[in-house]
Amino acid sequence: MYIPDLIKKKRDGGILNPEEMKYIVSEYVQGNVPDYQMSAFLMAAFIKGLNSRETFSLTASMMESGDVYDFSDVEGIKADKHSTGGVGDKISIPLAPLLACLGFYVPMVSGRGLGHTGGTLDKLESIEGFNVNLSKSAFRRILKKTGVVMGGQTDRFVPADKKLYALRDVTGTVESIPLITASIMSKKMSEGIDSLILDIKTGSGAFMKKESDAEALGESMFAIGKHFGKKVMYMITDMNQVLGDYAGNGAEILESIDILRNDSDNQAAQLVKETGVNLMTANMKISRDKAEKEVMQAISSGRAYEKFLDMVKAQGGDTGKLTRKHLLSRKSVTIKAAKSGYVNAMDTYSIGVALIYLKAGRMKKTDKIDHRTGIFMHRHIGDRIEKGDDIMTVFHTGKYDEAVTILSRAVTITGKKTRSPKLIKKVKGI
Ligand code: URA
Repeated sequence: MYIPDLIKKKRDGGILNPEEMKYIVSEYVQGNVPDYQMSAFLMAAFIKGLNSRETFSLTASMMESGDVYDFSDVEGIKADKHSTGGVGDKISIPLAPLLACLGFYVPMVSGRGLGHTGGTLDKLESIEGFNVNLSKSAFRRILKKTGVVMGGQTDRFVPADKKLYALRDVTGTVESIPLITASIMSKKMSEGIDSLILDIKTGSGAFMKKESDAEALGESMFAIGKHFGKKVMYMITDMNQVLGDYAGNGAEILESIDILRNDSDNQAAQLVKETGVNLMTANMKISRDKAEKEVMQAISSGRAYEKFLDMVKAQGGDTGKLTRKHLLSRKSVTIKAAKSGYVNAMDTYSIGVALIYLKAGRMKKTDKIDHRTGIFMHRHIGDRIEKGDDIMTVFHTGKYDEAVTILSRAVTITGKKTRSPKLIKKVKGI
């Protein structure tokens, strides 16, 4: 097969058959297709779209590029959650140990920041010593021992996505329903899980700005999951504002700890609990009432936090350094309200970009993250605010002017009382 012909076929709106899809993916992974050809193909796929058969064959080809984990010898329900990405979206970090306390095994393979959104791996690496680069055998050993493991992609785990994800990040080809579907589902279907809950974000800080697009993405991933014989459910959740109070890497570890220690009841804490309840009712044949009680019990008893500490230790992290001093810069500047009124809207995409300027994310693939920078939101949409009140505190390590300029414009205050956006807009499942 001649690669330029496959690119042209997609460019002209043609449909690639499974052999053609497999060919372009495997040749790219082997280094026989250079980034410039793959970028052209991705842009053609972005603009012309992929139908459901092509999306399935792209997902399957990506899975075939590496190892598919098999945990059938681990007795119990293997479950995971994946988010399409947002700002302040730390849900996976408290959720994974919580699920392990509720009777699930959680073999979670996570990603790094993509575009303006943060990545779970970058957040976990704020914890000194925490190793996300686990071999297949270490991943399995920790899963069996602790019930939960949170790692990154290795060169053997869906290498096609590892390469494509990095390429999409810098070629304007992220916000595509079939490409996001194949990226997420190739990883999730390779994890050896039985059940998956997808958190599809919608709003100003999400890749899917419109709820109808988020729903289409949910349906696309749901169909792929069913095709692979897995139990899948999805939630459409709000990303019109920073999720919870903090955004930034170490900052989100601090907030995750607050959630696990029952010290927070903000929207992030609510979403962690709701996701746990949904997974339980869908997989364990128990009532919602009972699931809610079990979730609350796991948190209030301290078991979920203990499980988090077990996971941190098992992955080499220093539990003595889970403090504000280690996770958050001491240097800060606070943005104040220029007028009185109500917080009406947030440009959450710009907040994500400002975090990149603070080095909480990357401009280029090779950039190093500064784990101790971030923001704290003093107000959320719908809150009353007076002129001169704190809106947001910016934690920095020296250079913050550009970020503060962007952040100062990101929150709109109006005289009209606005309702807080509904956190969970839809749940569809199993
Ligand atoms: N998360 C992923 O893993 N892939 C995407 O394409 C978008 C979000």
